[in-house]
Amino acid sequence: MYFIIDQAFLCQTCAKPLHIYIEEAELPKPETNYTFSCPACASHLFLRSGAAQVIEAIPPNGILATRAPLTTIIVIDDEADIRDSMAALLQSMEGFSIRTCPSRDAALELLEQERPNLVIVDWNMPGMTLECFVELVRRRYGLLPMVLYSTAPNALAKANALAIPFMSKTDDPEKLISTIQQLCTIPHAN
Ligand SMILES: [Zn+2]
Repeated sequence: MYFIIDQAFLCQTCAKPLHIYIEEAELPKPETNYTFSCPACASHLFLRSGAAQVIEAIPPNGILATRAPLTTIIVIDDEADIRDSMAALLQSMEGFSIRTCPSRDAALELLEQERPNLVIVDWNMPGMTLECFVELVRRRYGLLPMVLYSTAPNALAKANALAIPFMSKTDDPEKLISTIQQLCTIPHAN
């Protein structure tokens, strides 16, 4: 069975109008996330199902979207402002589920229950050291992607020494989002 989920979607990158369809056996629940690529600019886009409408077949100009798994990200920072602003930034995008932790120790506990696609970790925090955290996560979860998120002047060198990517807290939101999207598309062993 085919459904129209959006006949007038504008690509968020190139503004091309797109006709988005899905193929499902039943009417999708509201708030189901779908993903598709813009044929004009190849942007990877998300859409939430609203009021879907049954149709006979997908027309030639129609774009078939598929169900998007939620991308889960854990943000670890002892400063609540930083955690909240990163969570707000990521929640403004479709398809992301965000968990926050005030310490690396708390994050290790969370990792026992939840397997994220990416861990964003601050450097200067009380408790377990960054080195120890990175080593433990690698030992337990293999290639789970991590990124150091800091403003410390030598943070880039620290990230390089630990062989993890770096994002600056002074980067603008567009740059942060594009870095995070790239890191989330790296497949990992778990
Ligand atoms: Zn586009």
